Amino acid sequence: MNASTGKRLYAKLFTHSILVPTAAALVLLGSFAAAFGFNFFKEYLSGIKWPEPKVVAPGPAGGPPSDALVLFDGKDLSQWEENQWIVKDGCATARGGGIRTKQSFGDCQLHLEWAAPEKVEGSGQERGNSGVYLMGNYEVQILDSYQNDTYYDGQAGAIYKQHPPLVNACRKPGEWQSYDIIFTAPRFKDGKMEKPAYVTVLHNGVLIQNHFEIQGQTAWDAAPAYHPHPEKMPLDLQYHGNPLKFRNIWIRELETYEPEPAKAAK
Ligand code: MG
Repeated sequence: MNASTGKRLYAKLFTHSILVPTAAALVLLGSFAAAFGFNFFKEYLSGIKWPEPKVVAPGPAGGPPSDALVLFDGKDLSQWEENQWIVKDGCATARGGGIRTKQSFGDCQLHLEWAAPEKVEGSGQERGNSGVYLMGNYEVQILDSYQNDTYYDGQAGAIYKQHPPLVNACRKPGEWQSYDIIFTAPRFKDGKMEKPAYVTVLHNGVLIQNHFEIQGQTAWDAAPAYHPHPEKMPLDLQYHGNPLKFRNIWIRELETYEPEPAKAAK
């Protein structure tokens, strides 16, 4: 047997011993699949009809995105109730008392930037203290927590007296820092809390609160408890006697949307 005869014999054997049985098996499998209603190549579709997500231009790094309400752009505090804070050189410096937005908010995404005084004075809770009061009731602590000991559930990024930050991501005093907060407002029904509030916080881009279930209003002198309030409330920034600086504050109100009733998913 020469080489070309060998190749032909091999091809014949290959066709008869492998290709023919494989093709037959595929035909049989296909017949069974068709008979029992299987279709191996059909795409899964949920049957849910979602509305098209809106287009939002994200804007420059740090925002604001195109659908945000700018609460402070470095120029004026016109989005806030009358206050004594000083606007200068593109930032607002805390003075005389807290500030409160004119508008009210519920579920939201909030971005703000703050800097503790460069000149370190005091210690613990007396050093670079402020706070973001979501709905005027739930404080995400602002504190100069760079090498500054205090109780953990009262340091920067803590949900005050409820939950410490997952890590301490504080920059040095005088340096700009960011908070990105995603907040789900509590729901009240018949004078009682129906669903608690939740909060997620990134400090300088680092996750420090991960969908934490808020236990109620944060207070210095009382255990957390829910006291019913309107669906939307203003946002407060605390003045705690320290001249913290703020800039680039914006907020996006978050909507939930429901799909059209689902058709039977297959
Ligand atoms: Mg505070």
